[in-house]
Amino acid sequence: MKETSRAVFKRPEGTADLLGKDIALWQKFLKCADGVFTLRGYKRIETPIIEREDLFKRGIGEATDVVSKEMYSAISGGNLSKIKTGENLSSRSKLALRPEGTAGTVRAICENGLTEVDSMPAKYYYAGPMFRAERPQKGRQRQFYQIGTEMLGSNSPYLDAEAVLMLLDFFNRVGIESSILTLDINSMGCEECRPAFREAVKEYIENNSEHMCDTCMERANANPLRAFDCKNETCAKIMDSAPNIHDYLCDDCKEHFEIVKSLLDASNIKYNVNNKLVRGLDYYTRTVFEITANIGLGSQSAIGGGGRYDKLSLEIGDKNLPGIGFALGFERCALVLDELGKIDDSQESCDIFIACLCSDARNIAFELANKLRETGFITRTDERDTEGRWQNIKSLKAQLKLANKLQSRYAIIIGEDEIAENKAQIKDMISHSDVALSINEIQNYFKGLKD
Ligand code: AMP
Repeated sequence: MKETSRAVFKRPEGTADLLGKDIALWQKFLKCADGVFTLRGYKRIETPIIEREDLFKRGIGEATDVVSKEMYSAISGGNLSKIKTGENLSSRSKLALRPEGTAGTVRAICENGLTEVDSMPAKYYYAGPMFRAERPQKGRQRQFYQIGTEMLGSNSPYLDAEAVLMLLDFFNRVGIESSILTLDINSMGCEECRPAFREAVKEYIENNSEHMCDTCMERANANPLRAFDCKNETCAKIMDSAPNIHDYLCDDCKEHFEIVKSLLDASNIKYNVNNKLVRGLDYYTRTVFEITANIGLGSQSAIGGGGRYDKLSLEIGDKNLPGIGFALGFERCALVLDELGKIDDSQESCDIFIACLCSDARNIAFELANKLRETGFITRTDERDTEGRWQNIKSLKAQLKLANKLQSRYAIIIGEDEIAENKAQIKDMISHSDVALSINEIQNYFKGLKD
């Protein structure tokens, strides 16, 4: 006989199995997202988890950390052998796991002509896993879940304010109130005014080259603005006195930012104008924003953020449509809610448990359970076997213990005596009262309780 080696697999580092209360929370997030976003005309979209690698290179920027260091390639089996033999792959064959949702969603809006299909602008939201090969730590995973919105087709600053309000509204709905959040906003300027700012920052970094870290110096050419994100204390101190974007904004960008701020003021939203907020990706223009939570998270305190990307659709599609969006991270929100003691721990849910005391009762219970489920009751029976023998019937005590564990509100008991009388006992598990009913009446009895 061929010998097979056995292996016990564990999930890859930086990934998680969503179970029990995590799944319940994710479902709550989806419900809240739907509630909050559809009120403003956003519709759900699902895009592929794999996209062409060059979509992210072009859209997010080749020099960004997300693309240059953290992106996972997705190469099909056939193409792996080509790589081994040093053959070049066509760009169509080079796929990547999405590191974020904006590039794919904007691609989908352009490719499907959604700005024409919908009345402009196109407004969509997504929810699902993203992948970044980062060093795992609390609140930082390699596969994590994001919910995000994207609007394509309008320059209006009202939509920037709407995006910020919508994100805060979402946090509020899931139980993360504004009092524990900090909102930072900034303007990144546009293609008219940003190049001069970028040059000024580059020159500033070069003038301080002997004190700046190697990473900032490496990035100085391709992506000098990333120096604003550097965690190195000396770099951070130097960047405090770096050129300020607000001295470079053109009149249009200034006016746009002033309107966004006035709309937030009018909605009583507190914010900090943080001229060092650049948000790491190349596609941002004008408004950028980030929300951090001051409890439950260590250094990874950003729970959501976004911004405008007025040139992204031109970069990856065939349309020149300004847009804005944001993404929020599920795992970090879950950590905050956990710290707030707002995660519901009750994992089991059962309305009616049917205890069978003989094998004939099983057939009756099978039919009855289906009828009760039709009426909308979560109905369970004892599905355990005893060391592989499913035929064994457990004692009433053992079955009621299971009903309690499942937190069942009612238990129906069917045994030989009940079958002989065509009756069943119905036990209220809270008041401990009993009632005997004919089996045919049970569905109507519970229907009556519901009405
Ligand atoms: P970003 O596009 O990087 O600003 O991400 C938006 C949000 O996604 C962040 O505010 C986080 O809440 C979440 N997020 C980003 N990267 C990770 C990660 N590696 N692990 C967990 N959550 C993340």
